Amino acid sequence: MAVEQTPVVIDEDLCTACGICVNVCPKNVLEIVEDLHIWTGSMCKVARPEDCIRCKFCENSCPHFAISVLDSGIEATFQDSKGNTVTKSK
Ligand code: SF4
Ligand code: SF4
Repeated sequence: MAVEQTPVVIDEDLCTACGICVNVCPKNVLEIVEDLHIWTGSMCKVARPEDCIRCKFCENSCPHFAISVLDSGIEATFQDSKGNTVTKSK
């Protein structure tokens, strides 16, 4: 069975369903949905993970540090201004 892959992970214990991440996402990936298992009665869900461009606007905007945007696993190698070879994950 295929495992659903999402680049965005939301900590249900930290999310207060404030909606900030939904508003800052440029790709409309996130939604506030009703979830009666959560103390707030609703929370943020990753509704369209395939549209995520990993910009991290949501992660950087969440006041409760409830969102993590995962690296793609793709690495880029380049030279910095001092000629050092640097490898970074995208
Ligand atoms: S910004 Fe953070 S606390 Fe607010 S809805 Fe999004 S994940 Fe939840
Ligand atoms: S990383 Fe960017 S595109 Fe992906 S859910 Fe967050 S704000 Fe939206």
